[in-house]
Amino acid sequence: MISIQGKGVSAGVAAGPLYFYQRAKAEITRTTVSDVETEWKRFKDAQAKAIDQLGALADKARAEAGDEAALLFETHQMMAEDLDYEEAIEEAIKGGTNAEAVVSDVRDQFAEMFANMDDTYMQARAADVKDVSNRIIGILTGAVQGGIDSDVPVILASDDLAPSETVQLDKSKILGFITEGGSGSSHTAILARTMGIPAIIGVGDQLKKEYAGREVIVDGGTGTAVLEADADTRAHLMKKREEQLKLQEMLDQLKGKENVTKDGHKIRIYCNIGNPEDVHNVLKNDGGGIGLFRSEFLYLGCDDFPTEDYQFEAYKKVLSDMDGKEVVIRTLDIGADKQIGYFNLPQEENPAMGNRALRICLNRPEIFRTQLRALYRASAFGKLCIMFPMVASVWEVKEAKKMCEQVKKELDSEGIAYSDDVQIGIMIETPAAAIMSDRLAKEVDFFSCGTNDLTQYTLACDRQNNDLGRFFDPHHPAVLRLLKMVADNAHKNGIWVGICGELGADLQLTETFLSIGIDELSVSPRAVLPLRKKIIETNVAQVRDKLLGDLASDQTPV
Ligand code: PEP
Ligand code: MG
Repeated sequence: MISIQGKGVSAGVAAGPLYFYQRAKAEITRTTVSDVETEWKRFKDAQAKAIDQLGALADKARAEAGDEAALLFETHQMMAEDLDYEEAIEEAIKGGTNAEAVVSDVRDQFAEMFANMDDTYMQARAADVKDVSNRIIGILTGAVQGGIDSDVPVILASDDLAPSETVQLDKSKILGFITEGGSGSSHTAILARTMGIPAIIGVGDQLKKEYAGREVIVDGGTGTAVLEADADTRAHLMKKREEQLKLQEMLDQLKGKENVTKDGHKIRIYCNIGNPEDVHNVLKNDGGGIGLFRSEFLYLGCDDFPTEDYQFEAYKKVLSDMDGKEVVIRTLDIGADKQIGYFNLPQEENPAMGNRALRICLNRPEIFRTQLRALYRASAFGKLCIMFPMVASVWEVKEAKKMCEQVKKELDSEGIAYSDDVQIGIMIETPAAAIMSDRLAKEVDFFSCGTNDLTQYTLACDRQNNDLGRFFDPHHPAVLRLLKMVADNAHKNGIWVGICGELGADLQLTETFLSIGIDELSVSPRAVLPLRKKIIETNVAQVRDKLLGDLASDQTPV
């Protein structure tokens, strides 16, 4: 038995013969060309063909794995005609070198530049530029694409798979992936997760060519692959596989069912998203709405302040795709761990308690105004709720609401449509907001508790610091008591209350949340069905008194 350890990036257990991906290598000969205009046209034709092919791949990816997967190929289309990339190619072709040799040189140059960047996301783009360039080289040289030449489904091994290679593969032939290189944020990992195929990356030279054809069991949860497993290991992994399959089948049957407890208590399960493409997963997992769209991810993805129109399109897409279901969009929450260069924020000693989120918006109203205009314009396309993060004082909410009123007046005077039914809410993520929730409830339509920050500020424990271990305890009675206080104050004032921090998906606390009367839990899309299962199995009346008693005494309820 041989055990290979890598990093599990897509959970699940799969077994099958190990198969090495066959990649067609294009033969590149370097020649000197005298008719540079014809050679440049050769490149432009190949580039246009590559863009067409990528468009077809985007359609295929959209059908198989949703909008997020399709976006990869749309990004590749843009990369194929990126100005810097094209200029580098033009200059070298016009210097007298043949197109395929030039594209291969520019590919290596750009890939190296990306690989040397500090940002891991940008490093992963090296694989993208290689992929796009190889496609163009393939067209120029007439090389054929690689694939899987096997009659039976396999565990696919490779150095690293490019996204276009991944999407072109016949998925019915793939049971799992193992790659020598790659990163968790690589597109192969993203695609594997989206398609629900177990995957392990980064096994390096543990993967040997002579293993080809041998049976391998891949555990994408632990990142272990076992070749020719002994009887006990095989039995253990196969049992795990059976359990996972049964659980998933059972969870799938909960789609379309209500989130209602045995004694008839209902709660909404919504989803947290970071960009419009995530809506695909929300719908796939039967999320009832969006409880938190972290709008700062739009800003993080841009090199400069996103324009009103850019934001409008993004918000409109989410609202339209959700087709009338509630969508809570949180206004910009940057600062602390989410820094953006073009904001030019001064260095701070203590950024988590510094200039962040709503504080920035109130201090720089031109930024806030652009976002609010985009939000209100988008409100005409669905059911929008606007939520302000990091509130500590009542005056902040009043000032933010005043900005909303100003924006609505502007839109009225410009004759631009917006919904008159937009709910305004706030995140409860500072102890001050929780303590003042009786007053704050009079100002807004809903509360959503950000337990990630609420825990950090209540316990004075940095959420970014892994070394704090057991001291960062979101189950701490202080946090739970604050949540109960917030829920009571919300209900006394006739508004709804949700939880959108990670704690919302914590099944150990579901009974507690139901007992204190939380109306909505907003979680990652994959957490929806396990949470629904837990709710359906709970009888609140049976546990409420005990859990609330524990909360009032010195007991942690779990
Ligand atoms: C939270 O603080 O719980 C929250 C949901 O916001 P974020 O994690 O984006 O700070
Ligand atoms: Mg927060």
